[in-house]
Amino acid sequence: MTDCSVIELSRLPKQLRTVARIFAEAGFSVYLVGGAVRNLLSEKQPEDYDLATDAVPEQVMQLFRRVIPTGVQHGTVTVLFQAERFEVTTFRSETTYSDSRHPDTVEFGVDIETDLSRRDFTINGMALDLRTGLLHDPFGGRQDLADGVIRAIGDPAERFTEDALRLLRAVRFATQLQFLLADTTRAALTGRSRELSAVSMERTRDELAKILRADHPSYGLGLLRDCRLLAAVLPELESCSGNTTPDKGELFTHLVRCCDLAPKEPIELRLAALLHQIAPVEVPESGVSAQARSAASAHRRLKALRFPNATVSQVAHLIAQMGFEYRPNWDDSDVRRLISSVGDEYVDALLAVARADRMACSDDLGVQQLDELAGRVSRIRDRNDPLTIRDLAVGGNELAAAGIPRGPLLGTVLEALLDAVLADPRINQPERLLPLAQRVYERLADQDEGHRRGSPRN
Ligand code: ATP
Ligand code: MG
Repeated sequence: MTDCSVIELSRLPKQLRTVARIFAEAGFSVYLVGGAVRNLLSEKQPEDYDLATDAVPEQVMQLFRRVIPTGVQHGTVTVLFQAERFEVTTFRSETTYSDSRHPDTVEFGVDIETDLSRRDFTINGMALDLRTGLLHDPFGGRQDLADGVIRAIGDPAERFTEDALRLLRAVRFATQLQFLLADTTRAALTGRSRELSAVSMERTRDELAKILRADHPSYGLGLLRDCRLLAAVLPELESCSGNTTPDKGELFTHLVRCCDLAPKEPIELRLAALLHQIAPVEVPESGVSAQARSAASAHRRLKALRFPNATVSQVAHLIAQMGFEYRPNWDDSDVRRLISSVGDEYVDALLAVARADRMACSDDLGVQQLDELAGRVSRIRDRNDPLTIRDLAVGGNELAAAGIPRGPLLGTVLEALLDAVLADPRINQPERLLPLAQRVYERLADQDEGHRRGSPRN
């Protein structure tokens, strides 16, 4: 064990120091653990503060006024102190894991060294004593942090067998920190995708989302593929490995590059970029486009991964719309039609994903044209051109007053009016739309009548 003073306690927020003093004055030990220690050692700002202590949850609850019993059976409570919150977990030692995910029992009250030994990776197995400022680093986490290595604590194969979530956490930390997996750790996690079935879809989703929000998700996705874990997370993406198309080259490589090149937030952009071409290009029989099939596949997969419904449908929608092909000779009515069919609220996202796709193909001209399209879209918005049925100068009431009955044909009439207005916004006035509506309605009604006459009676 190496004990050394490396982090000035004065660098920590005042509230944390006060909370630590309250533990110490009551005779308890208290350590900072987890990501905050990693961040402090790498001169990064911690996002949250996880604490470990020998006080049991009931004792912690007595020490502070505002405490949420987050997971008391696992020894975790959340202490709210002034504007800060701290996750406090009682020292634990775990025994056997029979379900590849959760310890069978949790025991409290041992020391920090035992507590650190049940943690997953050396860089996560360090603790800063908040009473003394000494760093406990029994597994060489500081060295691994400096070297950029993710290394399991203890026997890697055993640690992954205990808890399969660690397979994904290893890849996730490697991706977020841009670290390598230690050889033995990498060997131990390779080929264990079947064990990932013990991990809930929600946890799998959370780890995937963290990989996708990293600077280079392609690194993590490549690790998942190379370590043969991808089939348990995104089997459709795994199937793209080795498939080549004439314009995009090897599909897996293309898709993960697109993902890197798409904006990080909102996550829908990277999901759409990653999954925009996951359906096999062949299988033409169905008559359904590759784009629509990729959208349907992405929808199924993201739903299974329990992404929120809004995310699932937005990603599927973006993928379904990815087939548009902008040409500089489009006139403004073509641009308006695109905005109208995609939905104004999705256009910026669609252009961002399409741009990533063009960049991934090193298609500079394509990128330039999309930028031009974005400029045209914003000019159309500035002009307030009508783009939806809601923007029409007449609605159902005006049409009804002009003698067009409410019924199934009314929607088709409105569609026709929108089409005309998209072609020429100047006609968006009641006196021009109403006669047009009447002509369209009469034609539709005639057709309808014709159909009914021609259809066999029975
Ligand atoms: P971040 O919060 O930035 O994702 P973190 O390291 O704080 O990173 P948490 O998931 O908050 O990660 O967990 C806090 C600590 O708990 C980890 O650093 C690790 O020591 C331990 N830990 C979390 N999950 C596991 C696990 N499945 N197996 C072993 N130890 C774990
Ligand atoms: Mg944390």
